[in-house]
Amino acid sequence: MSMVEADSSCILGKDSFLRKPVSGVLISNMCEVFNGKIEKGRDKPVISCLEFIMEYLMKRICNFMKVMKKDKGPLTPTATDIVDARKKVASQYIARNQTCTCRKWELMGIPCMHAIATLNEMSKDPEVEIDIYKWVHKVYWLETWQKAYSFKVEPIKGRPMWPKSNCPTKLIPPPHRTQVGRPKKKRRKSEGERLSKR
Ligand SMILES: [Zn+2]
Repeated sequence: MSMVEADSSCILGKDSFLRKPVSGVLISNMCEVFNGKIEKGRDKPVISCLEFIMEYLMKRICNFMKVMKKDKGPLTPTATDIVDARKKVASQYIARNQTCTCRKWELMGIPCMHAIATLNEMSKDPEVEIDIYKWVHKVYWLETWQKAYSFKVEPIKGRPMWPKSNCPTKLIPPPHRTQVGRPKKKRRKSEGERLSKR
């Protein structure tokens, strides 16, 4: 078993990466978000840039841990917002057959409003609410999120405490030139980002 398989099976189950993407994130959003977050650090020399990223990750993991402590689950806050929004729309739908061609459930791992309407229809007793969360993929569960962020970035000694190098060459950063590139455009937000107020 490779490292990747071992890691993924411990958090999500061994078949989690073999099927559909289970995500509503659009193609380049991950890179755009990463670029946006390191904007103030990316022009710095490599060590300062890495220190900037480390500090950002320490704060991010700490913030998520605070949110997770307060959250009651069973899903993550974003997934809960998506399911609640879909439940609202689904209450106006009537299930007429047992197929859904929108493919949102398959692609994202969260039942679409049509599937929720069908699940509601399947509940014989209107007083008994079917547990919609049970049909949401494990990647959106609070317990999975907690496992993913259970590893902290531990603080390390700052630069003044580093041992002095005996290397005779002094490395200075190259002269800074403004990069030529396409103008920054507003990226399209995924459904989770649009719905989440957090
Ligand atoms: Zn659908």
